[in-house]
Amino acid sequence: MDTPDIAENIRRIRDRIANAAIAAGRQPDAVTLVAVSKTKPQDAVLAALAAGQTVFGENRVQEAETKFPPLRAAHSFNLHIIGGLQTNKARDAVRVADVIETLDRPRLADALAAAMQKEGRRPKLLIEVNTGSEPQKSGVSRDDADGFIGDCKGRFGDLLAGLMCVPPHGEDPRPHFDWLANRAAKHGLATLSMGMSADFEIAIAAGATWVRVGSAIFGSR
Ligand SMILES: *Cc1c(COP(=O)(O)O)cnc(C)c1O
Repeated sequence: MDTPDIAENIRRIRDRIANAAIAAGRQPDAVTLVAVSKTKPQDAVLAALAAGQTVFGENRVQEAETKFPPLRAAHSFNLHIIGGLQTNKARDAVRVADVIETLDRPRLADALAAAMQKEGRRPKLLIEVNTGSEPQKSGVSRDDADGFIGDCKGRFGDLLAGLMCVPPHGEDPRPHFDWLANRAAKHGLATLSMGMSADFEIAIAAGATWVRVGSAIFGSR
C-alpha cells in the first residue's frame, strides 16, 4: 500500500469541511476536524501534528495510552475516545482523554464520575446514541435518549457537551444526522459529533460541529 501524504490529505479535508460549512450557510470554521488515528502508528500522528492537526480520535483506550501520553510533553492536542467504553476502562479513559464521546449508560456514567473524582481530571463528555438500533453497536437507544441526556445534564452539568452517533453502514445517514441534531437542539447541547470519511459533508449540512475522519487522512485500515 502507498504511504498516504497525511499533510496533503489534511489540507484537502479541511478545504472540503470549510466548503461544506459555507454551502450550509455556516461559518467556514464552524466544524472541528477530529483525526481518527486508530490502528495507525505514532509516526502518523506526528505527521498530522506537523501539519497543524491538534484534535485526534482513538477507539481503544489501550491503544490511545501507548500512542498519545508520550507526545504530550512536546505537543499540545486534544484526544477524544470515540469507541464503546467498558466500565472497567473508565479510569484509564479519564486519565488519557480530553473528551469521551461514548457515554451511553448509567453504569458508565457512575464509573466516569468516580474516575474523575479519583484522577482529578474532568474530560468533556458526549452521549452516543445508537440511532439505528443496531445490537452490536454501543450507544443509548433512541427511546432512552431523552431520559439519559436529562440525567447526565443534571449530574455532569456543562461537562456534558453534546451528542454523537455512527449511523448504520450502507444506509442513508441523513435521517440519523437530522434526528441527532434535533435532540441536541431540544436539550440545548451545542456539540454534534457526526460524519466520517464517507459522509462528513452530509453531516455538516445537517449541523455537525465535529467530524471524525480516519481513512481519508491516514489511509485505509
Ligand atoms: C473508525 C471511526 C471513525 C473514522 O472512520 P473513517 O471511515 O475511517 O473516516 C469515526 N468514528 C468512529 C466511531 C470510528 O470508529
